[in-house]
Amino acid sequence: MSHPQIPDLTEAERARILAKSALFDPPPAVLADGRRELVGLSRSELAEEMTAIGEAPFRARQLWHWIYHRGETDFSRMSSIARPLQQKLAERFVIGRPETASVQTSADATRKFLFRFRDGQEAETVYIPDPHEDRGAVCLSSQVGCTLSCRFCHTGTQLLTRNLGATEIVGQFMAARDAYGEWPSPKGETPRLLSTIVLMGMGEPLYNYANVGKAMTIVMDGEGIALSRRRITLSTSGVVPMMDRAGAELGVNLAVSLHAVRNDLRDELVPLNRKYPIEELIAACRRYPGASNARRITFEYVMLKGVNDSVADARELVHLIAGIPAKINLIPFNPWPGSRFETSGAVAIKRFAAIVMDAGFASPVRTPRGRDILAACGQLRTESRRVSAET
Ligand code: SAH
Ligand code: SF4
Repeated sequence: MSHPQIPDLTEAERARILAKSALFDPPPAVLADGRRELVGLSRSELAEEMTAIGEAPFRARQLWHWIYHRGETDFSRMSSIARPLQQKLAERFVIGRPETASVQTSADATRKFLFRFRDGQEAETVYIPDPHEDRGAVCLSSQVGCTLSCRFCHTGTQLLTRNLGATEIVGQFMAARDAYGEWPSPKGETPRLLSTIVLMGMGEPLYNYANVGKAMTIVMDGEGIALSRRRITLSTSGVVPMMDRAGAELGVNLAVSLHAVRNDLRDELVPLNRKYPIEELIAACRRYPGASNARRITFEYVMLKGVNDSVADARELVHLIAGIPAKINLIPFNPWPGSRFETSGAVAIKRFAAIVMDAGFASPVRTPRGRDILAACGQLRTESRRVSAET
């Protein structure tokens, strides 16, 4: 199959993507009584809020510390702020969290949270503890549903309802931290239970770049949650123009959902490939800043029996990514109700991994986590639907 044209990577293309995704932005983070949510504001927005109520901008720094370092949600417990100002703040602002609609814990200790936001929309967040050490990854959702419809992905069967706001993306992480009581934020290299963030939940993060970027900037701020960009991985199905932007502005680790090495097959499995084909995607990976042996690009490759798991596929893969500092995560397909694929057999996976490894790339086979509670890669889905503007 041929590709009509290689899209150009101009600023105009990025502007088009950003404008389109803004149509799916969440409602403003303001309560019915007019109080504004402070979680999710940038530092400068927080300073503007202070100025707007006649307070000095340094209050923003104080609040930042309480909100993101201490995890405090109650103004009356902010001991460095005098009582009259505490009251003034409480009349105008809130420091909220998404509501925890349900929590399920897997036999392997993976925990899945269903968070409900102010307008009733819901998204899932998963905490995956390291089996050997006191650390773990928090898998955040970036959208309710997804516009893309990768054939093997449960989220892809749920239409995009809307983007999650920075408030809601940071809020997922903070609510998960609440559940494990990990406040104040551990400083520097102090071990953390919630030690990494992976943007691998529901949605395509690069189709919600404005909110995802803002949320990650908040999470990385050294005076708050202070998670280093090296501990954050953004996974994309290949929104090529936005990969450049994310690399330049955020510098987080990049994971690319490759899944196929020929355009005809990838067009089917990851339909976004029809817009940004493999050659474009790989070129964007080669451009991605900071890729080095210490900081490799991760290629995700879901192992689908008889579909993409042959020896020829493995050989083509190593040829395709030759010279890119990379590791290949081989993900056994996680089934979901109604899915039509099967997981590759152990022999096929081993054979595939060996070829990739012989070519000099790490090729860990991901142990599925949380499958019993539908918390593994590609199993997330909520019942949220798009509601009309009037309701
Ligand atoms: N939308 C982004 C991030 C979320 S998906 C992306 O596509 O990259 C996180 C990873 O899980 C992706 O690599 C995705 O392709 C993979 N995945 C989706 N469905 C899966 C399934 N059923 N089994 C295993 N991995 C799956
Ligand atoms: Fe969306 Fe990623 Fe699922 Fe594809 S794999 S449908 S991009 S969430």
